[in-house]
Amino acid sequence: MAGLSPMMTHYLETKKEYPDCVLFYRLGDFYEMFFEDAVTVSRELEITLTGKECGLEERAPMCGVPHHAVENYLIRLVQKGYKVAIAEQMEDPKFAKGLVKREVIRVVTPGTITSAQALDETKNNYLMGIVYIGETFGIAVADISTGDFLVTEVESERELTDEINKFNPSEIICNEAFYVSGVDIEDIKNRYHAVVSSLDNHFFSDEVCRKILKEHYKVAALSGLGLEDYDNGIIAAGSVMQYMYETQKSSLSHITNITPYSTGQFMIIDTSTRRNLELLETLREKQKRGSLLWVLDRTKTAMGARMLRTYIEQPLIHKSEIINRQNAIEELNMNYISREEICEYLNPIYDLERLIGRISYKTANPRDLISFKNSLEMLPYIKKILEEFNSEMLMNLQEELDPLTDVKDLIDRAIIDDPPITVREGGIIKEGFHEEADKFRHAKTEGKSWLAELESREKEKTGIKNLKVKYNKVFGYYFEVTNSFKDLVPDYFIRKQTLANAERYTTDELKELEDVILGAEDKLYTLEYQLFTEVRDSVAAQVLRIQKTARAIAGVDVITSLSSVATRNNYVKPSINEKGLIDIKNGRHPVVEKMLRDDLFVSNDTYLDNSKNRLSIITGPNMAGKSTYMRQTALIVLMAQIGSFVPAEEANIGICDRIFTRVGASDDLASGQSTFMVEMTEVANILRNATKNSLIVLDEIGRGTSTFDGLSIAWAVVEHISNSKLLGAKTLFATHYHELTELEGTISGVNNYCIAVKEQGDDIVFLRKIIKGGADKSYGIQVAKLAGVPDTVIYRAKELLSELSEADITVKAKEIAETNSNITQRKAVPKPDEVDLQQMSLFDTVKDNDIIKELGELELGNMTPIDALNILYRLQTKL
Ligand code: ADP
Repeated sequence: MAGLSPMMTHYLETKKEYPDCVLFYRLGDFYEMFFEDAVTVSRELEITLTGKECGLEERAPMCGVPHHAVENYLIRLVQKGYKVAIAEQMEDPKFAKGLVKREVIRVVTPGTITSAQALDETKNNYLMGIVYIGETFGIAVADISTGDFLVTEVESERELTDEINKFNPSEIICNEAFYVSGVDIEDIKNRYHAVVSSLDNHFFSDEVCRKILKEHYKVAALSGLGLEDYDNGIIAAGSVMQYMYETQKSSLSHITNITPYSTGQFMIIDTSTRRNLELLETLREKQKRGSLLWVLDRTKTAMGARMLRTYIEQPLIHKSEIINRQNAIEELNMNYISREEICEYLNPIYDLERLIGRISYKTANPRDLISFKNSLEMLPYIKKILEEFNSEMLMNLQEELDPLTDVKDLIDRAIIDDPPITVREGGIIKEGFHEEADKFRHAKTEGKSWLAELESREKEKTGIKNLKVKYNKVFGYYFEVTNSFKDLVPDYFIRKQTLANAERYTTDELKELEDVILGAEDKLYTLEYQLFTEVRDSVAAQVLRIQKTARAIAGVDVITSLSSVATRNNYVKPSINEKGLIDIKNGRHPVVEKMLRDDLFVSNDTYLDNSKNRLSIITGPNMAGKSTYMRQTALIVLMAQIGSFVPAEEANIGICDRIFTRVGASDDLASGQSTFMVEMTEVANILRNATKNSLIVLDEIGRGTSTFDGLSIAWAVVEHISNSKLLGAKTLFATHYHELTELEGTISGVNNYCIAVKEQGDDIVFLRKIIKGGADKSYGIQVAKLAGVPDTVIYRAKELLSELSEADITVKAKEIAETNSNITQRKAVPKPDEVDLQQMSLFDTVKDNDIIKELGELELGNMTPIDALNILYRLQTKL
């Protein structure tokens, strides 16, 4: 390294401080990258790789991007998951003595990027910090563009996954212990396209974390922030805070809040349920169209759009909070004219949260301030309309909404209505705002007329007809004389420059004028820049008020959106109960009904409670509408707990603590597990975590294995769930095992339903109506025919079907039913934790009904352990 040039030495020293970043090193009008960075960037951004003499034998690989277009390149790199450190020139090279001073001014990473171009305005961009200490995970999530900052703690890896899934962070920072804890980091990276990096230990020092939080929020004790019960949460939050300071190198003054939350505050929706129910995006195409969000989103502002997502991700579990939202929606429904008016005023409102972020960051330009002002202009109107309302939520929002007239007035007085984006070339500050600025401005404009005067005077004096005063940046003002008039040039014209067809001159008088004009212009630009930054800083000082108002606007937007949707889609206000009753009359699937033309959707009832109607077994041929029906029920419950109205004629919804779904074939093949394994893992999760207040939707479980294995598992699962001593959760259970309908009447709380079809000769017609009772046939061949399977195959299948003795299967199933009901009536039932999934395929291994019978008749209560052991031994020898 000895031969390295001084600049290269400095480059490498800087790079050493940011080893995990690509270093953009400012050199004149370019940002250059060298060595490995150059190779990476030229590959990723498809730009030419060149070389530079660096004092070593070989030239250093180099590539560069022009500084005026840097944003674009930066965003592309960051979106590909790179972190970029930007080393800027800290002094004007013209005045530098020796090497120009350069420093890293900012590190841009996927979770901390603030450029509007890089962000989707309807989504938050989260940076998540995870620490794993003593079996507990501390989690902190920050959106640096909006100032949101949340903290929580969870105990298990599954809950952690649910949180990651909920926030979908673009970057995760964690401690070493988490990185090596066995959590599948690669899976997280792939699934969420998140950059995951484990940081140095100093980020996670308890002392440092506490100190930085106290300093940032200016509090004496962390209990002032409500963080006293979050030991690991504090470390997660403290590390995120340090990371933000280190990358942003700014005061982060817009991060004014930190909100601890407990995961039990909301309905728990696990990762697979979130995906299965297609809450925010569809399962296959991963797009918004076709999701619940797509139906519910009529928000007008970016802030509202983001808050609606949060509503959907976190349904409520407290009745009063749900009723609060319902009442607000109802009031807006009734005063729909005012609602439409509110929507009109919301429409032009820009993303106040992100604008105030940029204002605090000092990256907002004059045009941003004007957008900001135009948005603020809407606030008093919205506040005024809100005064008409009496529901608690709307009244609170009205109160929280600060019309910010002072802020608006300031911008209005200071900044001209159509300013440029640039900050150093004037044209920003309004006439009359600042006396001195006005003076310079006059000198500048009057100077222009002085020039015109001088031009015409000299024209007359010299007789040069096309004499013109012109200006360029290098030579300033000059007279231009074309060659044809060269002879008329008088002595006092001083030559400045010779061109092919013209000469350029100055005079003493022109020089004098130039000094006045250019002096005034320079001074004006500098002063305008200074005044602009002062205005921007005064706005930034109001960050708390602005953020509070932005949140109120988001709230108003979400509620008016839910109200508009309710009216447009003919939804009703559900009653909310706490006794576990789910009674839906003529419910509809919110998304499927939108996808079908002309009211083709057939509505259906759902009735579930905590006693006689705990579990519905739903049979019916493929394509009949079983899963649509079950998802519809789950979605209606979820919508009701969001506070939304629901697609039904009438609904009474018992608050559920969790919704679980196990639906259809697995979409999880990428993770390398077999479909059956994934299915069973999910079933295990449901059985272990559901409570009697949960709603469970199970679609065709047991499908991935042999018929008897599958049937047995499905059967045992129904028994387990419906047993109120074990679980007793409300459940919809769709199955193609018609044998399961035997359970109605055997187990209390289990009822059969099927989706009606009509036979028409050889074909079937789907009626889509759910009716009491079990389906007796599968109609598989008819469905295959509908799907276009060739006639020859259909014909042969029919032949085979009649040949196969279905009777065998039914007999076997009945046998199982009898034996099994004996067992469930008498045996001591294992606790959920003791149920080993492998042993769930119970019936396959049972070889001898006598053994079962004998086991069933044992009176365990009157037996000593030794007796039990002896009997077990005897039974085992019989196998
Ligand atoms: P299954 O789960 O029984 O195989 P699905 O629920 O997937 O059937 O429904 C199949 C198709 O039938 C859906 O894509 C939908 O278009 C249509 N469908 C389902 N339920 C209804 C309904 N209630 N009204 C109208 N069409 C429906």
